[in-house]
Amino acid sequence: MENFKQTNLDDNILKAVTEMGFEKPTSVQAKTIPHLLNSNTDLIATAQTGTGKTAAFGLPSIHLTDLKNRDTSTLVLCPTRELCIQIAKDLTKYSKYVDGLNILAVYGGSDIRGQIKALNKGVHIVIGTPGRTKDLIKRNKLKIGSIARIVLDEADEMLTMGFKDDLEMILSHTPKDKQTLLFSATMPQKVIGITKSYMQNPERISAQRVNIGAENIKHIYYTVNAKDRYEVIKRIADINPNIYGIVFCRTRRETKDVAYKLMNDGYNADTLNGDLSQAERDEVMMRFRKRKIQLLVATDVAARGLDVESLTHIINYNLPDDFEIYVHRSGRTGRAGNAGVSIAIVHSREIRRIREIEKRAGIEFSKEDVPSGMDVCKTRLYNLIDTVENVQVDEKQIAQFLPDIYKKFENMERDELIKHFVSAEFNRYLSYYKNARDLNVSGRSNDRGKSRGKSGSRERGRSRGRDRKNRSRGDGRNQSTSKFSGFYINAGSERKMNPGRLMGLINESLDSSSADIGNIEIMKSSSFFEIEEKYADDIAKKLKGKPFGGTSLEIEKDKGTGKRGNVNKRKKRRKSRKKNKWPQSNNRSRRR
Ligand code: ADP
Ligand code: MG
Repeated sequence: MENFKQTNLDDNILKAVTEMGFEKPTSVQAKTIPHLLNSNTDLIATAQTGTGKTAAFGLPSIHLTDLKNRDTSTLVLCPTRELCIQIAKDLTKYSKYVDGLNILAVYGGSDIRGQIKALNKGVHIVIGTPGRTKDLIKRNKLKIGSIARIVLDEADEMLTMGFKDDLEMILSHTPKDKQTLLFSATMPQKVIGITKSYMQNPERISAQRVNIGAENIKHIYYTVNAKDRYEVIKRIADINPNIYGIVFCRTRRETKDVAYKLMNDGYNADTLNGDLSQAERDEVMMRFRKRKIQLLVATDVAARGLDVESLTHIINYNLPDDFEIYVHRSGRTGRAGNAGVSIAIVHSREIRRIREIEKRAGIEFSKEDVPSGMDVCKTRLYNLIDTVENVQVDEKQIAQFLPDIYKKFENMERDELIKHFVSAEFNRYLSYYKNARDLNVSGRSNDRGKSRGKSGSRERGRSRGRDRKNRSRGDGRNQSTSKFSGFYINAGSERKMNPGRLMGLINESLDSSSADIGNIEIMKSSSFFEIEEKYADDIAKKLKGKPFGGTSLEIEKDKGTGKRGNVNKRKKRRKSRKKNKWPQSNNRSRRR
């Protein structure tokens, strides 16, 4: 189909679509729009993420709405609140010139009264999450007894066990002669099985064309030992200081592990997983959209509905079971003409799965080596040089300091001076990476064996704090020589404390983001952190009594002061702290 005119959609819809810059229907739109306009048969449509499925069901649904009738005629169900809002927004744009069409998104975590009020006025197209939709039907506020069509967006997810009860309840209130339409990026065989109980002889449409922009995605894989996966992410992040991407894990637990390690190691990272409350999800997504988070660690399900343009990297911490999910993941980068990289971290036994994805998805992977410590150093060094070359010099401000500075350097030659400046910025990288081992499994085994023990322990023992100013520029590790003090506070994972929150709490209390924070450890009922000694008194004062998670904070200084990185001693102390909980329960356990 060459243009939208051929779809026979209403002129008012075409006008909006043209305004939005849609020139011609995407493949899935070209196939599904005529189906919706001309047939009442049920439909299963699969097409990858980013291929315009919303318009594929949205445009014909708008076209088919009888504006004179105020009953709901289209119900769209989708798994998350963000998607609901997004779909409602899109449909509102498509119907900009259609007067009198009412569209409403209904979802949990938001006042139901407002939604009821809107429903009372009559809504033609309702977009809902299953839970809230069910609620509104129960309260007899949403009436779907005469709908013409129901759309399940992200249908594979909608048909999983989690939504089964809600979905069946909702369907039981719909008329027999409605049209059921499934849209999804993936449609695994077992989901097809489930559709049988909800659909009548559905037609299947699949738009094979890959994403708009998929040709901009480079697929690469690294072969490493399973236990080195995390280290690989760090290398990727270090060699790409402006990385903006998603790390996909298989389980919630894994997302938490990886994200907390990254945060602890000073990266701008956080996790999006099914354990978060709606408010927490919103917060994480907002920070990710604003790029306050550079690496979002997520499960496939949690990342749905997160539509973020211009991601630079997709990292597959684990390969997904289904090749379609890989395509789905990688399709989140390389959009809008930008280049994107999708990296799979695999161990040698998984290479045949790479081949399988290649075959089934029609893409090609290139095997690359995990950047070596020296690669990272080189890249960062050249970055630094570029920054120095291109930095804006504020002549006025700097003039007052220059005479003294010139004086100080008067005996230094240009060459010498350059060396000093570069080293000042760069020594920390060199020292971190100088003995970094080769993470590639194909590397020479002798070398690996030798260096593993050595640098492995060096890396573990090394303190992981980074100056937050540096961190937000995404550059540099702090190799501060300052002394650190350790503290325990009486809030741990039980009260939803995590490294990000803790750092936030410290920042907020100090009104300053220049304090360097060292190791952080979150335990069940307490947490440990290190902070530059000069901030110790201040933080102890400011945190004491501060409300957090329904309690007021207590803070206790760790007995051993001195240089951070005295890991073994601390570990011992923390171990005993772990056993004896925070004071109250501590006393109790002693009495027993
Ligand atoms: P999907 O649901 O398939 O993942 P979306 O419906 O969210 O994809 O659409 C992805 C992007 O493509 C949106 O920004 C949308 O506005 C845009 N888009 C949709 N249809 C077209 C089209 N025909 N031409 C150009 N862009 C389109
Ligand atoms: Mg979609």
